[in-house]
Amino acid sequence: MTRTAYAEINLPALRHNYAIAKRQLPGTRVWAVVKSNGYGHGLLRVAQALPEADGFALINLDDAIALRHAGIRAPILLLEGAIEARELDEAHAWQLDVVLRSEHQLQWLRACGQPLRVWVKVNTGMNRFGFVPERAIEVVRQLQQDGVCEVAGLMTHFACADDLATRLDAPWQRFMQVVTSTGLPFTAANSAATLRAPLTHGTAVRLGGLLYNNNPFYPDTSLWPEGILPAMRFAARIVHIGELQAGDSIGYGAAFTAEKPMRIGIVGAGYGDGYPRAAPSGTPVLVNGQRVPLVGRVAMNVLAIDLSEHPTVGIGDEVTLWGDAALSCDEIAWRCGTISEELQCALTSRLPVRQIVADSHPRPLPDDQTAPAQCLAYL
Ligand SMILES: *Cc1c(COP(=O)(O)O)cnc(C)c1O
Repeated sequence: MTRTAYAEINLPALRHNYAIAKRQLPGTRVWAVVKSNGYGHGLLRVAQALPEADGFALINLDDAIALRHAGIRAPILLLEGAIEARELDEAHAWQLDVVLRSEHQLQWLRACGQPLRVWVKVNTGMNRFGFVPERAIEVVRQLQQDGVCEVAGLMTHFACADDLATRLDAPWQRFMQVVTSTGLPFTAANSAATLRAPLTHGTAVRLGGLLYNNNPFYPDTSLWPEGILPAMRFAARIVHIGELQAGDSIGYGAAFTAEKPMRIGIVGAGYGDGYPRAAPSGTPVLVNGQRVPLVGRVAMNVLAIDLSEHPTVGIGDEVTLWGDAALSCDEIAWRCGTISEELQCALTSRLPVRQIVADSHPRPLPDDQTAPAQCLAYL
């Protein structure tokens, strides 16, 4: 059976986005975050699209090993360290950097005796993982005295970096306590902190969303760099054209009722493919580059759109659900009360994937890539 929906992953766009980030971050390593199957874009696909990457960061040991099997020699950071003691031996065998974020991991580490490269995680307010500053300082001293592991640096992850209304001063000061006391290199910033607070860049930043065109501050675009391109397009074909008369409703729950006669397109994609069921009537899709609204409830395999203004669009025509310069995944996610990452991770593995491997119109990096002046104001 021919599939009506597919995802298109744009490898040159990923490379371009990475290059923009690199250019804004002279002297700072950029770890590409590829957890959760590369934010739904495909773990190996993303990693292989970024042969120049300074390193990759992810959660699962198996994913890290898959990257090594694929021949990737760049540094790889296990963002949450080991979840079982034996993983530390594997981490050493595969030359992975590990985060150390809890007392039980510290015990495993000292018992395993391997000369691992370790990033000691400081809890600055996320309150899930990491050592409080005083304890982090002790842990660093202890590891340095043991002399077995290399303490590569300190790491933290901000709880509220994507909320511009919340300042980062307090978590930053907590982190700086440890940085100052140990004199170690550090990695603190995800995409949001990287964009809003250059002070946090340190030795290495860990970029996920930014590489995938996900603006953490959406719908605020004031800090979003020029030139970042969508890397995932979700598209589907129109499989049926129908009519509604005034008073007719459409779909499950009769959630949308026509006020006048309407021309309706039924698109072959639904929540079974990864399009969010939460998308309300009015959510735009693109047809021939123009926005048309979704009507009624999204079903498992189909959704309906209003084609009243588009009499020539017909069966077999393609609709872009997100991932175009004119319709970002951020916008769809925002209309559904969530973030792009959730939608991208939720694309089902049954969805066929097409890859764009070469750029037909290579885009130069935009000229002025100095960070906006207001960045510093937001720490
Ligand atoms: C996921 C993750 C990141 C990347 O965050 P983005 O907001 O997607 O850039 C960075 N650090 C840690 C610890 C993470 O888990």
